[in-house]
Amino acid sequence: MPAYYKHPEWNELDTAVKETVALGDQIYLRFEDTIFYAQGGGQKSDRGTVSAEGNAYPLIKCIKDEHGDPLALIDSEHPEELLGKKVHLALDRPFRDTQMKLHTSLHLLHMLIEKHLGHDIENPITSDIEEDFAFNKYKNAVVEGVDFQMIAQEMNELTAQDIPVETWSDEKDPHYRYWKCMDTTIPCGGIHVKNLKEIGPVSLVFHSKKGNMTVQVRLG
Ligand SMILES: [Zn+2]
Repeated sequence: MPAYYKHPEWNELDTAVKETVALGDQIYLRFEDTIFYAQGGGQKSDRGTVSAEGNAYPLIKCIKDEHGDPLALIDSEHPEELLGKKVHLALDRPFRDTQMKLHTSLHLLHMLIEKHLGHDIENPITSDIEEDFAFNKYKNAVVEGVDFQMIAQEMNELTAQDIPVETWSDEKDPHYRYWKCMDTTIPCGGIHVKNLKEIGPVSLVFHSKKGNMTVQVRLG
């Protein structure tokens, strides 16, 4: 299991380049272990730097291969020259923290909508995280009658409290992961805050267009 799941709080890691993988016309690096979360589930790839032999290469992105294992693309003319070399990974922590807070907020939003309606609802048509906000887009019919102002108030009550968030891997398939907060468990391979109070105040911006309701979560 990669370090980003085991130790999401790590900002740096000394590791080595285990393999180079050609995908399209680009060469990706597979590290022995990594703190860089690969993009997926609406969450953006981590940002950071890979240093080797006195050179620092910005991380362009981290993706998952066909087995769900992370591969890194760095800004280098010849990434293949790093094969077998020791490297130092440094994470852009503020960016990661924002992504974790926003991603966890979307779970909370969905959970509260279901609580209000008193039944499970289908997943959003679109769920995405931008640089400084995240959104879920639902069919209007699915969220009809939901008072989003009240949801915003309840979200803020929860994100002000000491409420733990648990995540773990499936015993049979470690790539399959779960998220649990209060009495809700959902399958999710994303990375999350460990406690709702890390999120702090949030605001919701919602608007209905062409039969769909977009609900944005903003931090602060
Ligand atoms: Zn998640």
